[in-house]
Amino acid sequence: MIKDYEMVIGLEVHVELKTETKIFCSCSTAYGAAPNTHVCPVCMGLPGVLPVLNGKVVEYAVKAGLATNCKIANYSKQDRKNYFYPDLPKAYQISQYDIPLCKDGYITIKTSEGTKNIGITRIHIEEDAGKLIHDFRYGTMIDCNRCGIPLIEIVSEPDIRSSEEANAYLEKLRSIILYTGISDCKNNEGAFRCDVNLSVRKKGQEKFGTRTEMKNINSFHYVVQAIEYEYRRQIDVLEAGEEVVQETRKFDQDSGKTYAMRTKENANDYRYFPDPDLPPIELTPEDIEKIKSEIGEMPDAKKLKFTTTFGLSESDSDMILSDPNIAKYFEEVVKNTSYFKIAANVLIADVMRMNKDEFVCPVAPENMAKLVTLFGEQVINSSTVKKLLKRMWEEDFDPALVVEKEGLAQINDREILSAVVEDVLKANEKLVNDYHRGKEKAFEALIGNAMGRTGGKANPVIITEILKDKINQ
Ligand code: ADP
Ligand code: MG
Ligand code: ZN
Repeated sequence: MIKDYEMVIGLEVHVELKTETKIFCSCSTAYGAAPNTHVCPVCMGLPGVLPVLNGKVVEYAVKAGLATNCKIANYSKQDRKNYFYPDLPKAYQISQYDIPLCKDGYITIKTSEGTKNIGITRIHIEEDAGKLIHDFRYGTMIDCNRCGIPLIEIVSEPDIRSSEEANAYLEKLRSIILYTGISDCKNNEGAFRCDVNLSVRKKGQEKFGTRTEMKNINSFHYVVQAIEYEYRRQIDVLEAGEEVVQETRKFDQDSGKTYAMRTKENANDYRYFPDPDLPPIELTPEDIEKIKSEIGEMPDAKKLKFTTTFGLSESDSDMILSDPNIAKYFEEVVKNTSYFKIAANVLIADVMRMNKDEFVCPVAPENMAKLVTLFGEQVINSSTVKKLLKRMWEEDFDPALVVEKEGLAQINDREILSAVVEDVLKANEKLVNDYHRGKEKAFEALIGNAMGRTGGKANPVIITEILKDKINQ
């Protein structure tokens, strides 16, 4: 039965912009302040105040548009979207209605089925609403710090056909936005939130079915769950001979189900009209060119460079590209070493592991490059790399100097290492016997012993070779 249907999905993504101040006033946008401390008459919606548009918001929105292949409007305007809700003191939200800042773009996603372009209908700017805090003792409280935080809303075409595509779209969009530097897209702070519009239709049918909308899901994992649940629910409704109701539904994280919240408003319920307090937004081609010149390389271009010029694997590239700060650090490191793959390995296996949420690396890229080169040229072995890195993390230094001064260079001399192995074999008869009785672990113990005797400096590859040779004689 399910096989007869297909899902049609369009996503609306709200991204909080990383400006210092709010969209129409000079209040701070910093996250986590005490409730109602970042407010003023403008963002509190008091009567008689005048909003003044923050120029950075336009610049950032245009960056998002350019990075997603949109056309940028030379003329656009802002409109009032009227509705009452306790988190919206003005009783209208300033948004953009019929002339958005950006439109007709696309991004390219990759799934198990291959690559595909997903259309971007529009990107517009708007202000965020406040936050309601429900408390069982005090009731519902309102925090207006979020009122007037600048947002862009990115609306996709109904081009998405599976939860896998939805996930790939969100990942890609998030990555592109991160690389433009206009938002840090922190899901847990609500800086990247997604509304899912979903309908189903019989395969082969051209006309779209009636959609439902699931609002404000802030983790991609839950987006996937919500889609899978809602898809089956709508099919069940149709198979029972009923009709899907166009409505807003809530996704409940605990049950993984969606529940009807309210029937969907239509645009004319909002009584949109141009905000009389705000002049139109006009951008010359030169303005747009200037903004364009400020956008760095996007993740796709970087990935191509990483996999070709630097010869990294796809998965290593993806790991490094997952965070623009890691990618930037990597690019700084490889300016000073030609051991690209080793640089990637050290970053992924060691540096990223020492990090929690945000990428920090107290080691200067030049020193990291030296460490990588020392290993690449087999001057030091991997355990010395780890030891040095730990120390450099505490207090950064030039690893080449320290290797020299402290005699940490790896021992590659076969004669010396042969002698070490001889000693190890003599001193560990039991392990040798164990090995001959088929105990693989005994071999590792012998290697460990040999490494220990050289203060961890033996070349592990050579020592393994010699031991294999001698123990089987
Ligand atoms: P609204 O403000 O009513 O949510 P928008 O135009 O902002 O309307 O967003 C509509 C979203 O719903 C878009 O992402 C669009 O692709 C998607 N959409 C429209 N029709 C359908 C449909 N029949 N099935 C699934 N998604 C749809
Ligand atoms: Mg919507
Ligand atoms: Zn304010």
